[in-house]
Amino acid sequence: MAEEEKKAPKKIVPKKYPMPEQKPEERVHNFNEVPVGQDAQTAILEAQRCLQCKRGPNRKLCMDGCPVEIDIPAFIKKTQEGNFEEAIKIIREKQNLPAVCGRVCPYENQCEGLCIVGKKNEPVGIGRLERFLADWERNEQKHGKIELPAPTGKKIAVVGGGPAGLTVAGDLARIGHKVTIFEALQYCGGVLIYGIPEFRLPKEIVRSEVDYIRRSGVEIHNDYVIGKLDTVDDLLKEYDVVFVGTGAGLPDWTNLPGENLNGILSANEYLTRVNLMKGYRFPEYDTPIRVGERVVTIGGGNVAMDCARTSLRLGCKESVILYRRSDAELPARREEVHHAKDEGVRFELLAAPLEFIGDDCGNVRQVKAIRMQLGEPDASGRRRPIKIPGSEFLIDAQTVLIAIGQSPNPLVPMTTPDLKTTKEGTIAVDSEGRTSKKGVFAGGDIASGAATVILAMGDGKRAAKAMHKYLTEDPSWPSPEVFEKLSCEM
Ligand SMILES: Cc1cc2nc3c(=O)[nH]c(=O)nc-3n(C[C@H](O)[C@H](O)[C@H](O)COP(=O)(O)OP(=O)(O)OC[C@H]3O[C@@H](n4cnc5c(N)ncnc54)[C@H](O)[C@@H]3O)c2cc1C
Ligand code: SF4
Repeated sequence: MAEEEKKAPKKIVPKKYPMPEQKPEERVHNFNEVPVGQDAQTAILEAQRCLQCKRGPNRKLCMDGCPVEIDIPAFIKKTQEGNFEEAIKIIREKQNLPAVCGRVCPYENQCEGLCIVGKKNEPVGIGRLERFLADWERNEQKHGKIELPAPTGKKIAVVGGGPAGLTVAGDLARIGHKVTIFEALQYCGGVLIYGIPEFRLPKEIVRSEVDYIRRSGVEIHNDYVIGKLDTVDDLLKEYDVVFVGTGAGLPDWTNLPGENLNGILSANEYLTRVNLMKGYRFPEYDTPIRVGERVVTIGGGNVAMDCARTSLRLGCKESVILYRRSDAELPARREEVHHAKDEGVRFELLAAPLEFIGDDCGNVRQVKAIRMQLGEPDASGRRRPIKIPGSEFLIDAQTVLIAIGQSPNPLVPMTTPDLKTTKEGTIAVDSEGRTSKKGVFAGGDIASGAATVILAMGDGKRAAKAMHKYLTEDPSWPSPEVFEKLSCEM
């Protein structure tokens, strides 16, 4: 048994301190953030639930589950003492977007999934503490001046200003390299800006985190599409290295009959119209968005939950999730599923669409679906959904949202002929984020396929380290065969 557990017969508070949130009946009528955040006293009490465990040779703890390796016990210790300034400093050593990750990280599968307290009780609310500290820093204006070292003279281009690109940019700027981000949209943030709705992640918070990166010395060119205005080869003439973090923004479709009817949208288009183009504030913002009485969302991940909950806020009478497996397999974060259920989203589980049926004017009116049962586990480890013959049924719908997945953005690979890709369209990278093209690194969803914010940031961190090494001590590069193999294996 570890030392602190022997000498600390501390009585553990079994449950996390509650997170205050807007009531479901109120929040379905607004886009304000749902959880409103804990106060300082509650954060200190939550931090006091932590046992301050030490790592052992065979003992994993919270920080082993963190893809960016935050020293979690250390920042919690400072929080227990009420020293929030030191606590957030410890987080910022490893983490460029704490206010974002404190809101959207899948903690339950990461740090909190390994928390020792969580073995018998609810784990320490690490995510809530991270959120509290980042908000405290912003509200108290403790961002302060960022000390930067002398310039190294090296120039780096980052393509894409999502979590992966922002992490690379922040990390490299803070060691003195000159970094420029080229971002296709009018704001940086990637999915954080155009995909995740305001009620989960206020855009003001993303902008404040992006501002922190800008203040670290990073130059940002918005409305700049690489592959259209310049290519990666053009960038390599001016910059010493290039990082590609262009994400997985290409929607997947069902390819079922009727999918091109009016009123059927990809989740990406729908959420972009609402989040980036402020469709929910029409006519103040010039983005019309009509949902009708019933919206059916196909899919069961975070993207599907965002679509279904957004639809309620846009005024539909019923918002339905159609998902082919059962509740236990829903890939969305549990918290998001609970929020959706509390708000009244109807879950039509173990059901898959077969066809979309329209009226004479080409507008969608119904989804024809079929009931499913679960068979043996498939390659993904989840039980395979099997159609039940004769169980077809119809659901009325004026809007259908397709949220079944996203593929990598193809523009940069298409315009960079010697960049090897996998059969899924991701850029093939080695463990350091190096691609088949010397001097070009890649990471985040464009290399892993659609994943999570923190995994994209983890990729960014690894790539930043490797880019620094390449620029300062070891310019060697793996042989072409390595990438040949990688592109076949994946
Ligand atoms: C609706 C939705 C909800 C999600 N919810 C969660 C969640 O709750 N928790 C979680 O952890 N993850 C969530 N995710 C996944 C997560 O957001 C992504 O894994 C993460 O954003 C990937 O980061 P990235 O930097 O690789 O790519 P992105 O965030 O996609 O950023 C890529 C950026 O590159 C830009 N770009 C693309 N092509 C070019 C080009 N040619 N030139 C210049 N710029 C270009 C894009 O405009 C974009 O800004 C969600 C995803 C979606 C779509
Ligand atoms: S594992 Fe849990 S209790 Fe132990 S240090 Fe980490 S947060 Fe604290």
